Formats: sequence, C-alpha cells, structure tokens
Amino acid sequence: MKVRLRNPDREVELAGGRKIHDVLGELGINPDTVLVIRERELLTREDRVGEADVIEIRPVISGGSGGNRMRCRRCKDPAVVEIRRHNTAFCADCFLRHVREQVKRAIESHDMFGPTDRILVAVSGGKDSLALWDVLLELGYRAHGLYLGLGIAEYSERSHDVARAFARERDAHLVEVDLARDYGFDVPTAGRKGSRSTCAVCGLSKRYVFNRAAREGGYDVIATGHNLDDEAATLLGNTLRWQTDYIARQSPVLPEEEGFARKVKPLYRLSELETAAFAFLRGIDYVVEECPLVAGNTQLRYKEAMNQLESTSPGTKAQFFLGYLDRAAPLFAMQDEVQLVGCERCGQPTTGRFCAFCRARAQILGERLEGPGAERGSPRRPSDDRETAEALADEVMPVEIYGTPGR
Ligand code: AMP
Ligand code: ZN
Repeated sequence: MKVRLRNPDREVELAGGRKIHDVLGELGINPDTVLVIRERELLTREDRVGEADVIEIRPVISGGSGGNRMRCRRCKDPAVVEIRRHNTAFCADCFLRHVREQVKRAIESHDMFGPTDRILVAVSGGKDSLALWDVLLELGYRAHGLYLGLGIAEYSERSHDVARAFARERDAHLVEVDLARDYGFDVPTAGRKGSRSTCAVCGLSKRYVFNRAAREGGYDVIATGHNLDDEAATLLGNTLRWQTDYIARQSPVLPEEEGFARKVKPLYRLSELETAAFAFLRGIDYVVEECPLVAGNTQLRYKEAMNQLESTSPGTKAQFFLGYLDRAAPLFAMQDEVQLVGCERCGQPTTGRFCAFCRARAQILGERLEGPGAERGSPRRPSDDRETAEALADEVMPVEIYGTPGR
C-alpha cells in the first residue's frame, strides 16, 4: 500500500493488511500527532488498511513534522476520531458536536463574550483559527476575521488565499492588514535586520496588530486559535524558566484594560488533534504546511516533550494546563501594578516612552524614534540615544505580550 507523508512531502510503500496502529509503529509515528486519511475518510488506530489502499498521514502539530472498529461513545456508530485522554471515540457528527460543546463551555465558563459582542477572530489560514471562526459562525456569533500578511513568501500567499476563500464561502467579513504595506517591513526582513529573533518580531507584530485592529475597528474582543497543546507548551516553557510574571498572565481571557482589547482563547480545551480533525471533517481547506521560518524553535521542542509524555500517559497535557488554571493560577496573581502610558509614536499602551513594536520597527527601518513628546518641548537628553539602544535589546515586557491579567 502507498503511504503519503507530509512536511516534508514524500511517499513510501508499506505492507498493507494490518491495523493503522502497526503501520504507525513501523514508521515510528506517535498516533496522537497525526490524522490518518483514506480518500475523504479519517481512520483510527484500530482501523485496518488493505494492500491496495492509499493513505495520507498528516501531522497536526503546529511547527512539527513530524480488528474491532472503535465505536462512537454517543451513538455507537463506527468512530472516526479517537480521543485517548478521554478514553473515548466519536463518529463524525458526534465529534463535531463535541468540539462545539467544548468551545461553548470555554466561552461560558470564562464569560468570554455574549451574542451581541463584536468578535475579531485572528485567522492565520491554519486549522485552529479557521476551525474557531467556523464554530463561532455556526454558533451564531458576530465574528469577523483578521488576516495579517507577514510577507513570508509562498507560505503567506497561500495562507492569505485560504483565509479569503473561507470568508467568501461563508459570506463573512475579513479585515486585512499587511505588515509591509502598512508598517514598512516584513517578517523575513525583520529577522535579518533586528536584534530580536525572527519569531520574536513576528509574535510582537501579531500581538500589536491584533490589538490595534480590534481597538480601531470597534470590536469588543479579539479571539485567537491557541489550543490546549499551544497553552501546555507555553506553560511548560514559562515554568522551566520560572517566568512567574508570564505565568500569571497565561489565562484564556484577558479582560479589556487601559488600551488593551479583551483577548480570548476559546479553543484552550481542545487538543491540536481535535482541531485538525474538526477542520478536516468540516471540509475546511487549511494550510497544512508550517511556517518555513519556525523550524526548531523552542516552543516546538516543548510541544514534542509534552507529546512524548502524553503518548505514555494520555491526559498529561490537559492535567498540566487545566490543572494550572483551576488550582495554580490564583497563586501567581500579580502583586505589582504596572503603570501603562500611551506610546509617544503610536498611542498603543506601553510601560516606557515608546512601545516594543515601535522600538523594533524603528530599528528594522533604521529610523530614530522621536515622538510628539519631544516636540511638546520635553528636552532630548544626551542619554536618550543610548537608552533607546538599550531598550531595543530589552526583552519585551510581559504586559505587552499578554496584556494585563484579570484580578
Ligand atoms: P501562532 O502565533 O502561529 O502560534 O498562532 C496563534 C494564533 O494567532 C492563531 O491561532 C491565530 O489566531 C493567530 N494568528 C497567527 N498568525 C496569524 C496571521 N498571520 N494573521 C492573523 N492571525 C494569526
Ligand atoms: Zn508604538
């Protein structure tokens, strides 16, 4: 039988007439990290494949490349998706319902938004954010999309096409911002010219643009497609470095405050496998390829570590992150109040004179930063240049990454 593997694309011939479980074992692939697809159908570990079959093994990890048919827990039809951490499996219809219920539960338990709120969903063209937009529209919410063009060659072009096609099909509104057109630089250039890593400038630009687009567009809330795997990996990274201020802000909801739009992550209860299966079963065309610049980043290694633990102890990720929210988050609540002021360049909230985005942008474009503050007569001190240079090398303030946490 023919097996098509993705990221990178390749084809191998393997013996058929056995279970998916054995095929994945031979390939050394962890079943929790892939979708197995035959024609338009999803297969679980217990499904058998024949000699003449052609199957696709599609990784679901962002940044990764990596006899008895099971029955649906609800209706007892043949299952297509297995969720090992719940020790359960679902048929397609019941699985779609399960995903929508998990999202509803997230929205309601954290009071993320209501039926009259205007929601801006940040859509990257990947499975998570398109699945999120799809669920919110199906649930009847007023959700517009926001696509940010990062200028990462064909990857960004394909992402843009996919986001636009999704919006067109559903007659939904897509707000489009382009880093090069609107801010004068793209992510690859930033990576070459700035003092920060490419992923850091990219992340900073996303957070900045999301917030600004939400505020200026009059939206009540900005929603991102972060899933359980993303949140567990981030928490692991923050914990390994004991970045207690970052840990304190890792919440599925950050309330609106002082220039920051409310931010929510309605997929935080769903794993990457679940969002990928959802997007597939809903027929959503999404970008399977990963960002070509992300290879080997640390977030990815934390995801792989969590997956290894998950493969021998299903439920580890959920225990780690959901347990943190239930039992540990209150212990990390911030003691110190940060004082936010408007950036002298762009007006977005910051703790210094200029926000982290404006500082990074000035450095990339080789500009000096001077805001209306200087014109208003506050004298430029001789040390300002040095201070600006130092500020550029600074790590971004956690408040500019996560916003201010609810207390
Ligand atoms: P990432 O930073 O790639 O892990 O993506 C996290 C979330 O940010 C995604 O689920 C999207 O909601 C959002 N996002 C990432 N890239 C973009 C983009 N280019 N345009 C709009 N939203 C994005
Ligand atoms: Zn600014």
